[in-house]
Amino acid sequence: MRIIVCLKQVPDTNEVRINQETGTLIRDGVPSIMNPDDKNALEEALKIKDEHGAELIVISMGPPQAKDVLKEALAMGADEGILISDRAFGGSDTWATATIIAAAIEKIGSYDIVFCGRQAIDGDTAQVGPEIAEFLNIPQVTYVKEVKVKDNKLVVTRFTEYGEYVFEVAAPVLLTAIKELNTPRYPSIKGIFKAYGDKGEEKIKIFSFNDLVVDPTQIGLKGSPTNVYKSFVPVKDKHSEIIEGQNSKEKADTLVRKLSELNLI
Ligand SMILES: Cc1cc2nc3c(=O)[nH]c(=O)nc-3n(C[C@H](O)[C@H](O)[C@H](O)COP(=O)(O)OP(=O)(O)OC[C@H]3O[C@@H](n4cnc5c(N)ncnc54)[C@H](O)[C@@H]3O)c2cc1C
Repeated sequence: MRIIVCLKQVPDTNEVRINQETGTLIRDGVPSIMNPDDKNALEEALKIKDEHGAELIVISMGPPQAKDVLKEALAMGADEGILISDRAFGGSDTWATATIIAAAIEKIGSYDIVFCGRQAIDGDTAQVGPEIAEFLNIPQVTYVKEVKVKDNKLVVTRFTEYGEYVFEVAAPVLLTAIKELNTPRYPSIKGIFKAYGDKGEEKIKIFSFNDLVVDPTQIGLKGSPTNVYKSFVPVKDKHSEIIEGQNSKEKADTLVRKLSELNLI
């Protein structure tokens, strides 16, 4: 079995601030981390590898420093990393990002499972996983909270606010992970030495624009059908009011009237 896990390097949101004048994120000096849902995807792939045997390839699209998440994944137990990086990819929106990642997966060749996180904590769209599946023309199950390998198939539980759905799916398939799926492991000391030494460096390949079969009009800022118009932190405006009345019924009636006037009930 071959599993590909898509890892996004994201700014640690606990540290991110917004420039009030430009409305853009202040990224300088902000530590980067592996996107949390992606860590759950990676952990599940590692569990499948431990229990059933698998080759595990991790991929990340981003600037050279995105290599850090690949090294972290190697330290946790991934076999190989691929950094998809080129100036031509800069400014890509979710459509363009998924176009490029799907082209990288096509270049890798055969695979059984493509794992993504449900959502990245910076972009927050939850679009890239489903878009990759569409570009690869493979089935997808999103919001996955349990995966079991059964014979040559996967039994996958999808968790939503409306309930749980259990699907049996055949490979190749794309799954998006949620935090309920598992608790990610820490890298082992041995894994850290392997990943951060010269051998770790050798295990990471770079895919640039020239390595991929990708239409240049579909990538980068020019190939992106969406534009960020404005970013801002919503102003929190809190009001409180004490409802007066002779008794509970009168107070409840006043409350119902006020809520009704505000079209809240
Ligand atoms: C017009 C425009 C310009 C933009 N320009 C830039 C820019 O210059 N620089 C920039 O950093 N961002 C830029 N972005 C943001 C960029 O589009 C998103 O970061 C990216 O498309 C991923 O979307 P998301 O964060 O919503 O991911 P989601 O759809 O929420 O991610 C879901 C999952 O997909 C996978 N995934 C997503 N992105 C990657 C990745 N890069 N590598 C591997 N796996 C991934 C992960 O498994 C992740 O959990 C731009 C966006 C727009 C609309």
